[in-house]
Parts: sequence; structure tokens; C-alpha cells
Amino acid sequence: MKRRKVLILCIDAGSHDYLAASDLPTLQELAESGFYRHANAVIPSVTNVNNVSIATGTFPETHGITTNYHVDRATGKGEFIEDDRFLLAPTLFQTAKASKFADKTALFVTKKKLLRMLASGTDIAVAAEDPPDEYIQMAGPVEPIYSAEINWWLLRAVRETLRLEDPELVYCSTTDWVQHKYAPDAEHSQQHLVMLDAIIGDIVNEDPEREIYITADHGMLAKTVALDPGRVLTERGIPASSIPIIKDRYVAHHGNLGGAAYVFLKNRDEIPEAIRQLLDTSGVEEAYNTEEAAQIFRLHPERIGDIFVLADETTVFGELETAVEPTNVRSHGSRHESYVPIIGYNSPWAATDFEYNLDVGRLFLESLR
Ligand SMILES: [Zn+2]
Repeated sequence: MKRRKVLILCIDAGSHDYLAASDLPTLQELAESGFYRHANAVIPSVTNVNNVSIATGTFPETHGITTNYHVDRATGKGEFIEDDRFLLAPTLFQTAKASKFADKTALFVTKKKLLRMLASGTDIAVAAEDPPDEYIQMAGPVEPIYSAEINWWLLRAVRETLRLEDPELVYCSTTDWVQHKYAPDAEHSQQHLVMLDAIIGDIVNEDPEREIYITADHGMLAKTVALDPGRVLTERGIPASSIPIIKDRYVAHHGNLGGAAYVFLKNRDEIPEAIRQLLDTSGVEEAYNTEEAAQIFRLHPERIGDIFVLADETTVFGELETAVEPTNVRSHGSRHESYVPIIGYNSPWAATDFEYNLDVGRLFLESLR
């Protein structure tokens, strides 16, 4: 019997507007012989949350990763989520191994933190920012984390691993520095995707029967206003703080400004009034208490603060010196960046089976049962 082999590629911030603005013959060919589906990302539309959703085939209510930065409600202490201590669901790799689908599984990411979060069940696990020596031999010298080249390096490493070891299940996720810096029609952005497309072309040509899924974790849009929801409330007499969900150590990407935030109140009795005040604030589009947010967005209720706020299309939330200030960044996190494409090639499922990016993982898991 022929072995089934699956490659899942998450192009970080690889939304439709980026793909459509570049000449990508391989992706076009995959879409034409398979499908191209407009689907949803998980909200908050940030990298950790969506990669973990895809790589576990579940929503955050199940896998528990709701943010890049976790605040302990009891102690008020915050920490970056950079390993799998908060992960509550098995990875695709673990299930693929346990079900005997795969002899060999592989994970390729740019950042070490995502590697530590998702590496359970992998035989091969490579982070482009700090790869094992043999991968430097295979794919070239290490590239800076703030570059397009690091994603090209990553795809080359995938290509070489498929040639040499041919794992049955591969998950690869790039990084979105290019999209944070450049709009879809910018030359840098087009070059970035054209090169990725060419390497994907090699991968397809060398094994045209492999099942391939290409999707994204979120989109990316230009922002002009920065708002601190905690400061807005505090200035109106409701002591509060807020954590931009995008907050991580890679500040050159986005300055820790993103389109979604968790708000923590000093006094929880003030939640209804705080929601009214936030909804009355220019730039805030949606605000929900914990129970509502957990239900609507399928988030883990113990990990989303007292209020979940989403920004409008041109606003980002941050921890600021003033309540509102002008800004000039490209970022994500809100509902407006929660639309992503899914390309399926050699897929046993129909395009309409995919509503969310994480359905790539979910359907794969179901097929193992
Ligand atoms: Zn991302």
C-alpha cells in the first residue's frame, strides 16, 4: 500500500491579499488542481494561538493557548508563553505516532519558542533561528530572525529533509517580519513569497502525490491609532490594566501593538460598566466579559482576563504612556486579520469541509481514528 504523506505549511500572515498581490505559479497550480478556500483564523488572530490551533486541530478552549503572554489572575504576575507548560491538548505529531500513521514526524518553525510549544511527538524539530549543525550543512548558514531569508532557509530545510528522510507528517510555520514591514504590493513582500513559492514547487515536483495544505495564522493590516484600554478605563475611574495579546520578545515585528487585548480590573464588580465605557471608546469595536468571550470565540475562560476587547480595522492596543496616540505599524490580532486562505492539494476532503485554518489539523486527526 502507498504511504500517505502530509505536509502542512502555515505561512505566517499569508493572507489572501498577500498571495493575490504576488505571482505565485506553484500555489496557483496547487489551487487549480486542488482547492483554494477563504476561511477563518481563530480570534485573537495572533501567531501562537493559531499555530497551536492548527497543530492540535482544536480551539483554544481545548488546547489552552489564548495569548503570547500569560497573566496569572491570582498573583497578577505575567510571563511569556514560550514552552508547552500551558498546552492542554496533544499535538498532531503525538497522535500521528500513537495511531501508527507516522514512523517519522517533523516540525519546522523559525522561533525557538514555537518549537518548544509544539515539539512533543516529533522526531525532527528544527527552529531556523537556532538550528542543529547538520541543518546548517543542508540549508545554509543561519539567517537573522528579522529577515525574509530566514523563511527561505526554513523551506529549504523542509525540502532537504523530505529528500533525505521523507517523514509522513510535516508541519512548517514561517515568521511574519516581512508582512509587518511591507504591504502586499511592496517589492520585498513579493520577493519573499515568490521565493517561498519556488521552493514549494521543488517539493511538489519531487513528490507530486504528497498531500499538501497551505494556510495562514492571520492577516496583516496597516494601523494608525494606538490605544491602551487599561489606561482608558483607569482615567475614567475604573482601575484596570490590559495585556496586548501579541506581546512577545520580538518587538521589532510589531512594537507589542496588536488588535486584541485582555483587560484585568481591580474590582470585578465594575465589569459591566467597564464594557460600556470601552464600547464607548473610539477604536474599540467589540468588548465581552469572560463567559461571553469564551463562548463566542471558543477560548479558555481561565486564561482571558475579565474583558476581551477587539480593535477596529485601523487601531491597535498596547501598554502606552498615554491612553491614545498616533502610530504607524502593520499588525494583527483583531477580527479584521482573521481571514485566511486554505489551499488543499491531493486532499481527500472538499474545500467546503474547511471553515477554519485549524480544520486542516482537525480533519487529519479525524482521519486517523
Ligand atoms: Zn503570525
